[in-house]
Amino acid sequence: MKKVSRRNWLKTSAGVAASAAALSLPSILNASPLRESSSSGKKSKKRKALIIGAHPDDPETIAGGTMILLLKAGWDVVCVYLTRGEAGIKGKSGKEAAEIREKECKAACKVTGARYRFMSQVDGATVINKEKYDEMLSVIKEEKPELVITHWPIDTHRDHRVCSILVYDAWRYSGYSFNLFYAEAMSGNQSMKFLPTDYVDITSVAEKKHEACLCHESQDMPDLLKDWHIPMEKFRGMEYWCEYAEAFVHLTGHTAPSFVEMK
Ligand SMILES: [Zn+2]
Repeated sequence: MKKVSRRNWLKTSAGVAASAAALSLPSILNASPLRESSSSGKKSKKRKALIIGAHPDDPETIAGGTMILLLKAGWDVVCVYLTRGEAGIKGKSGKEAAEIREKECKAACKVTGARYRFMSQVDGATVINKEKYDEMLSVIKEEKPELVITHWPIDTHRDHRVCSILVYDAWRYSGYSFNLFYAEAMSGNQSMKFLPTDYVDITSVAEKKHEACLCHESQDMPDLLKDWHIPMEKFRGMEYWCEYAEAFVHLTGHTAPSFVEMK
């Protein structure tokens, strides 16, 4: 176990105080979208957020509004898809479904303006092992995000649980290098016991979010929006006193990095 010196302990404690004051998701959205370059000290590099979902429609449905707001605020946003949705279309082979759903992801990202990348797992057969832990960590090291949003871990869908745990592990082994927020997926049906710490008012971009969700044409999205996603956004909106909101759990603790100090 790493020995904690008094000096380091004080440094960490100061970081906690700073992060507690500055780290809610709305305050992150209001912060400068640019970060200082470590060499020149100039603020020129865009801050980056990753929205990591198990299936092709997950990033848009769980955090699409916040994603669009981050992009509007000047952030670089990458949708990371753990799988290509191979098991998601009845009557299609895994390869056929993956091809269709990859196109749907590209269409959704065209609407939101996010970049996208796919990982190597297979829908319905995702695994947690050393190779997959390493893969997630290498994505984090390559992209260097300051903010990551992924699935809440208590979820009835195995792939969502796997995705959440892989991201948690990458957070841990990247030295807690980013702010980690969990998002809910159809709470009551998939996410369970989700008690938000942060809300984002997405009313101004809800229509665009739904447009991006509807790009996932193979997924019965009109009914999913009507029966699950929109009622959830409205419920969170009631809690947050606005029309539509997305809700998150911010994972904080003695190891949470301070947004203002992150490079
Ligand atoms: Zn999913």
